[in-house]
Amino acid sequence: MNTTASRISLHGGHSGQYCNHARDLLEDIILRYIDLGFKRVGITEHIPPINDAFLYPEEKALHLTTDDLHKRFKDYFKNLNNLKEKYRAEIKIFVGMETEAYTGYELHVKQLIARFQPDYIVGSVHHINDIYFDYSREDYDKAAAICGSHDALYEKYFDLQYEMIKTLTPFVVGHFDLIRIYDPAYAKRLLNPDIQQKILRNLRLIKSLNLVMDFNLRPLARGEKEPYPTDSILKRAKEMDIPVVPGDDSHGVNQAGGHVDRAIKILNTMGFNTLWPEPVLLT
Ligand SMILES: [Zn+2]
Ligand SMILES: [Zn+2]
Repeated sequence: MNTTASRISLHGGHSGQYCNHARDLLEDIILRYIDLGFKRVGITEHIPPINDAFLYPEEKALHLTTDDLHKRFKDYFKNLNNLKEKYRAEIKIFVGMETEAYTGYELHVKQLIARFQPDYIVGSVHHINDIYFDYSREDYDKAAAICGSHDALYEKYFDLQYEMIKTLTPFVVGHFDLIRIYDPAYAKRLLNPDIQQKILRNLRLIKSLNLVMDFNLRPLARGEKEPYPTDSILKRAKEMDIPVVPGDDSHGVNQAGGHVDRAIKILNTMGFNTLWPEPVLLT
């Protein structure tokens, strides 16, 4: 057992400066990671929307436009690249971004990558049929109703995720089973043979492309009992020798680095390699 695993997060660091559902200054978040002894951290702000239909509700409430968010995203890269240099002696910062998988994302994300040259990307799916399903229970139920059932919702999610991974080759695949977010019966549903077959297909793709799975700690911050992915998927990832790396998915200083020690302990106990891989751009 490797007991000297260094603290790391490869998904998170959302800040109030660049995300309206996060809090605090990006620099204060970086300082928090340094205080906690992190030697490496990946910061992965949400990409700006492709058009106004994909603005978050809190952005609409503030009358922000796609244009405003593109300008803000440009500022994020400039600021984070400066912070990367400023704190180089204390911490190695990987400048990243978290993607989407809604209609038109392929070209949108590739254009953002070409323009901003991030160190790596986190590939996430937050929409089903262009409905943002993880924002609220109401949106989740709406997405499920459109799909016809919760089982169909899961299948659609894992199909979108498969396409996204093939299209973007994200170094980190974000919160693999986020689709379970508002489903109390998720543990059983994820074992449904039709869903399980898609999960295994996606894991095989992740393995074949040498990608990393996000061990996403946001559920722990919400008081839930396990991170994404759930235990049954984590065991499969271990069998397939897929690297799994903690991601705090933090949205403020007080969440930065949260539950990372617990995550490392879980990964150690399960026999995962905790000599973390370094993120790179693969697209
Ligand atoms: Zn967020
Ligand atoms: Zn996400």
